[in-house]
Amino acid sequence: MDREIRAILASVVHPETGENLVDGGFVESITATEQKITVALRFRKARDPFAVKIKNQVEQLIADLYPESTITVFIKQGESTSKQREKIDDMHSHTTTTSVAKVIAVSSGKGGVGKSTVTSNLAVALANAGYRVGVLDADIYGPSQSKMFGVEEYLPDAVQVDGRDYIIPAEVGNIKIISIAMFIRPTDALLWRGTMANSALRQLIHQTQWGELDFLLIDLPPGTGDIHLSIISELKIDGAIIVSTPQQVAVADVVRGVEMFRNPNVNIPVLGVIENMAWFTPAELPNNRYYIFGKGGAARYAEGAGVDLLGQIPIIQEVMEGSDSGKPAVMTCEEVEKYYRETANKVVEKLMK
Ligand code: ADP
Repeated sequence: MDREIRAILASVVHPETGENLVDGGFVESITATEQKITVALRFRKARDPFAVKIKNQVEQLIADLYPESTITVFIKQGESTSKQREKIDDMHSHTTTTSVAKVIAVSSGKGGVGKSTVTSNLAVALANAGYRVGVLDADIYGPSQSKMFGVEEYLPDAVQVDGRDYIIPAEVGNIKIISIAMFIRPTDALLWRGTMANSALRQLIHQTQWGELDFLLIDLPPGTGDIHLSIISELKIDGAIIVSTPQQVAVADVVRGVEMFRNPNVNIPVLGVIENMAWFTPAELPNNRYYIFGKGGAARYAEGAGVDLLGQIPIIQEVMEGSDSGKPAVMTCEEVEKYYRETANKVVEKLMK
């Protein structure tokens, strides 16, 4: 009976792919007895518009041949989990991150503390020190690296090498940049906060053609949650940096961040904390420091928790202007360059230990 049913399935053609159900690999299983015939069809697309039509057609054709049987045709959609697993395993075993020496995750407990600004400026400081640097913007809640580096118009090309697809990152002064924003319209961002975001991020992580890099900085979404765990479980991260303002409510979230990285199942070394917006010095009073968000909150926490303080960056107008103009301030402002040079040195020192 199986053979007859298979012949029926081979006579049905998917209108879009032009393949019959057997050759196209749509048939997942057939179980047939005189009383009961069950066929499972798998459509690789999550929402194949032809699925229901094909199911009805198959049911009718089988019923014509076996009018006495109870016939059930199941539709399954999307790749089978074993196929998905195979694909992911394949991606992992051919990941482009093998040519990256050190991967650094930049995180923050809260949004708006300057995590993305710190990531881009730190990237420039590392590049200025002669390192080959990449930035991967994984902040699905507010991807901003394209804007920070002035490459919002960049549309990544894909290339095939030996039958594998690779994504070409943008390049700004020796820094390679890839962002989830290059693949989604900002207005669609909400749609991406589920499994689609995960699989897109996985592709960015493993298929971006970085070439040889000394450092890859990953701009993580703010907070701690499932999405963070799934990103950081994708690859070996050599160290995490946590960005915080000195404000107590921000510092409270740093604790959660440190705990996440230190969790035995995660086990990523915390390189330290960068206290951003640590104070403000007006140009006309160069010896004054105004602690707008409180004084040294992140620094104090770092000391108490045995986490290094990698740097304190004051509020500087050029930093904000740099983010807006697409040129991280380290490129243009001497004062900012100095703060980040010192911070970058500490990061390198910690990683090379
Ligand atoms: P996050 O990535 O944590 O959400 P952003 O990096 O987008 O935060 O920074 C939030 C805002 O604060 C941006 O407008 C940025 O230009 C500004 N900003 C960040 N750090 C500083 C700083 N040290 N001095 C002045 N403005 C800053």
